Amino acid sequence: MSNLELLPINVAGEWRLGGGDEYQSLYPATAEPIARLNAASPSDVDEAIVGADRAFRTSGWARMLPHARAAVLHRVAALIRERSEDLAQKQRLDNGKPINETRALVASAAGTFQFFAAALETLEDSITPSRGAYVTMSVHEPMGVVAAITPWNSPIASEAQKMAPALAAGNAVVVKPAEVTPLMALELAKICEEAGVPKGIVSVLPGKGSVIGDAITRHPLVKRVSFTGGTTTGKHIAHIAADKMMPVSLELGGKSPTMVLEDADLDHAVAGVLYGIFSSSGESCIAGSRLFVARSIYDAFVTRLAQAAHALRIGDPASERTQMGPLITAKHRESIERYVDLGVSEGGRIRTGGVRPSGADYDRGFFYTPTILEGLGNNARITQEEIFGPVLVAMPFDTEDDLIAQANDSVYALAAGVWSRDFKRAWKLGRAVQAGTVWINTYKQFSVSTPFGGWRDSGLGREKGREGIFQYMEQKSMYWGTNEEPLPWAR
Ligand code: NDP
Repeated sequence: MSNLELLPINVAGEWRLGGGDEYQSLYPATAEPIARLNAASPSDVDEAIVGADRAFRTSGWARMLPHARAAVLHRVAALIRERSEDLAQKQRLDNGKPINETRALVASAAGTFQFFAAALETLEDSITPSRGAYVTMSVHEPMGVVAAITPWNSPIASEAQKMAPALAAGNAVVVKPAEVTPLMALELAKICEEAGVPKGIVSVLPGKGSVIGDAITRHPLVKRVSFTGGTTTGKHIAHIAADKMMPVSLELGGKSPTMVLEDADLDHAVAGVLYGIFSSSGESCIAGSRLFVARSIYDAFVTRLAQAAHALRIGDPASERTQMGPLITAKHRESIERYVDLGVSEGGRIRTGGVRPSGADYDRGFFYTPTILEGLGNNARITQEEIFGPVLVAMPFDTEDDLIAQANDSVYALAAGVWSRDFKRAWKLGRAVQAGTVWINTYKQFSVSTPFGGWRDSGLGREKGREGIFQYMEQKSMYWGTNEEPLPWAR
């Protein structure tokens, strides 16, 4: 073991060593350990949740006036901004994303806290039309202890996306970050504490999902799970939730189609398709991993795209020039390599990439080149299954009807992209494609003010948007009697 100091975790506001096994977080660019900690144990889980429930009931957080709770969340946003460079560098080390990307994620986390502070302060309950001798109101209440389970690909943004609305709603939140990327959730817990979130309202429990995530999900005091991760895990959580009659939101996988029509602005389309699949090394739920190009421009377009992919700058995540960093782990790279081999065995041809980059800079880290395969249909396994890496399958299409049928032929329906100069065709395709988000003449743009989520195997529920706060609240209808006389039935 290295001589890094053991990091404490946060159990109901207590910073202490986890009760589980010791492990290390590695820098994916060099495979060097950057943090050492003990995972949470099942008894830490119980203690954190019981403590969170107590804090929810007794700390005053849930009943704080909205503008006062919002002020605390504004301080969280300000502290994130104050420490943004340090946070961006830590996340770079934790998951290997290029520094420009981690800076953007940190900025987005601050924006998310700011947005939900504003949503809270301006949230309105309603008086509904009365149908009798009463006044009816619909109000919202916090739920209690809610859990946030997050993946490794964009830690600080995913965690903020759940913590900010959950806290704004007045809940206590127990965060289970991905085992391999524990740092950002721990930093956010420190910031919440400094900003004035009462002790016990935030806990962070790193550790294996199958042990710690599972124990959190099953705990009777957990009233909601907000999960981002793979579809198989999401379905497992949904089964547990059904038994507990517990609401869940599930942000799951994707295999998003990008459609380039013959009238597209090709400079924009090449840049957008490239960014859509290869930014974040393709480790993105919304990666545009299935490319459909009008047959008349297919060869020319894919040639330009392959040249641009080949020229991408892969390497040191600390450099601002780097466009693609390493993959998250050696194991994940092996899984991507198996998918590329499978694609070739299914009859695919590698147009570019398909190998690890060579040279001393890449010896220790988990790098892989941007890869484009063609010659496969939409029904091939690598066109249907989520790879979660820098692998694009390119296919020509003939008619718009055929395009729509193929684009929708997937168990996933998270996102889609349309490239066309003809706004009527773009509109028609955008409406016909089944997806939680459609980008027209752009791709992978995100706004916290716009709801996000998937259809079918891509998930349940929506995060972000002003309505995002209601995911973490129960609705309550209140009737105020205005009768002059006792109710007639009893007379
Ligand atoms: P996983 O589903 O394996 O893990 C996600 C989180 O769930 C991790 O914290 C993990 O812990 C935890 N977990 C694992 N098993 C369980 C369990 N039985 N009970 C409770 N929690 C559990 O996904 P990956 O880490 O592989 O992340 C990649 C996936 O996430 C991709 O499929 C991707 O599409 C999806 N994703 C979806 C997004 C969206 O918004 N729709 C955004 C980003 C990613 P541990 O760390 O121990 O594995």
